Amino acid sequence: MGIQDDDIASVRAATDIVAVISEHVALKRVGRRWTGLCPFHSEKSGSFSVNAEEKLYYCFGCGAKGDVITFVREIEHLDFVGAVEKLAAKSGITLRYDDENQNEGRKKRARLLDAVGKAVDWYHERLLSAKDAAPARGYLRSRGLTGDDVRAYKVGWAPEGWDELARALKLPNDLFVEAGLGFMNSRGRPTDAFRGRVMFPIFDVSGDAVGFGGRIMPGHEGAKYKNSVDSSIYNKSRLLYGLNWSKADIVRADEAIVCEGYTDVVGFAKAGVPRAVATCGTALTEDHVKVLRSFARRVVLAFDADAAGQNAAERVYAWERQYDLDVAVASFPGGADPAELAQTDPGALATAVAEAKPFLKFRLDRVLDAARFDTPEQRVRAAEAAMAVVQEHPSDMVRDQYLLEVAARCRVDENQLRNRTFEAAAKPEPRQQRRRDAGAGGGDDEPPPRGNTVRPDRPQVRRAQRDTAEIEALRLYVWRRDEISGLLDDTLFRDPVALTAFHALTSTPTLADAVAAAGADDPVAGDLLQRMAVEETEAEVNDVLTRLVDEAATTSMASLKAEARVSDDPFAVGDAIAWLNLRIMELREPATNEEALGQLLGWLTGRPEEDA
Ligand code: ZN
Repeated sequence: MGIQDDDIASVRAATDIVAVISEHVALKRVGRRWTGLCPFHSEKSGSFSVNAEEKLYYCFGCGAKGDVITFVREIEHLDFVGAVEKLAAKSGITLRYDDENQNEGRKKRARLLDAVGKAVDWYHERLLSAKDAAPARGYLRSRGLTGDDVRAYKVGWAPEGWDELARALKLPNDLFVEAGLGFMNSRGRPTDAFRGRVMFPIFDVSGDAVGFGGRIMPGHEGAKYKNSVDSSIYNKSRLLYGLNWSKADIVRADEAIVCEGYTDVVGFAKAGVPRAVATCGTALTEDHVKVLRSFARRVVLAFDADAAGQNAAERVYAWERQYDLDVAVASFPGGADPAELAQTDPGALATAVAEAKPFLKFRLDRVLDAARFDTPEQRVRAAEAAMAVVQEHPSDMVRDQYLLEVAARCRVDENQLRNRTFEAAAKPEPRQQRRRDAGAGGGDDEPPPRGNTVRPDRPQVRRAQRDTAEIEALRLYVWRRDEISGLLDDTLFRDPVALTAFHALTSTPTLADAVAAAGADDPVAGDLLQRMAVEETEAEVNDVLTRLVDEAATTSMASLKAEARVSDDPFAVGDAIAWLNLRIMELREPATNEEALGQLLGWLTGRPEEDA
């Protein structure tokens, strides 16, 4: 039985989330939010916060989050309907149920699966037999796929024409659009979503085709991969390509391999390691990890080295701890991708997986392999950079093991290293204090690594980091929108997660809507905003803007310098560099900060100067 949506919304609106949570946890008011000890994990200091106005909660310790219905479900182990019924009874709301809703839901799913299945068959036939698919067949052969592989994986070809699939399938327009196969053009005609692409059908874990990943032919204009839009049957943050085929071997080996491309999955299977999956056009999400964890305890990332290194370390460690999971990284000789290696040296694929390094070891080696050790200064610098990586790990015993390795490789005394690390980790610092410090910083530090957007869940780790200016600016936008909204602009956000969150904030009326909108694009951005709902900030607008502009201007400076090296008119670029350099120096001086901030904001955003 389903409860009608209107009634669910009424229950949410009528319920006081602080009152409900207070039945289980003692909450204390801090500024505009409430905090207490988390009821979902054991802790001595409160990591659990509630935003009464937006009706959301978040725990920094274990990541528990949601609205009042989620809270009641989790704390009382109820299903969704049970939780809504309980809250409705409290508020005196009479619920209306809709039996047909569920039957309709099942029927609709069957219709959507049928539509996608027809498209799979049509694209597949087209690849096997059509003349215009010859280049696509050649491309697949070059990637090592035989005719048998193409048939086994139901690979297809979407022709260049704008409505060939629509005309062939003749589906009702609403079904065609909802199944993600196309859209209605401005003249109201059904138009194919995929054109001129090699089509990899994506199956859910039970083997139903639910969407597509379309790869553009090499040398053609456009994004390399295009994926089906999310629908009621296709959820890209949860789907893993290949899981339907590989799940048996994943369970047997207690290990799943995550790679980047659909042909990599095929390559692993052909090389006798049939336990690879690929994400479908997104980074690895927590939902993916949860899905994989239900099959295996070890996850091997088989990305290219840069992509693997860019996984936010805190996220990976949090997943390892929360889901009792080991994450390792496989390296491939000569930077080849798994699909290439499957053709040239299939044995090397199995070896790379067997020799995959723990995530921290992989990151540490990347830092130390790139370092120089000729002078004492270089060795100390290398040790500091390496320790910054080591310190992110939540386990002190693991950290100490790697500290010994850093000391040996950098020829630095291990006790000195240990004392310094210990000092940095042992000084407790209240959250608000940390904020103020973070806001007051100049631009002299390297910006924190990309993806540093999810707060790690161990206090000592949390202190070792500071939020990027982009994150701090978003937090100001959430809490004190009127002070900062007119000053921010897309060009100031370079972290894609922060940009997604910024777009969601500027295009929705409430924070809860922004959480939903950001989460639909990127679950990490959704989580970020959800967390911000309970992170009140005392940062100064001017400090945050200064850091934000400093980072953006420094990035622009680097690209100007790169431009100067190849420019026909290096002097023109030189003038721009000189101007920018001066403004950045002024920005960092208190006496000239304000004027430089205005000038740089105007320059970066392409708007006339703001009167701040
Ligand atoms: Zn918790």
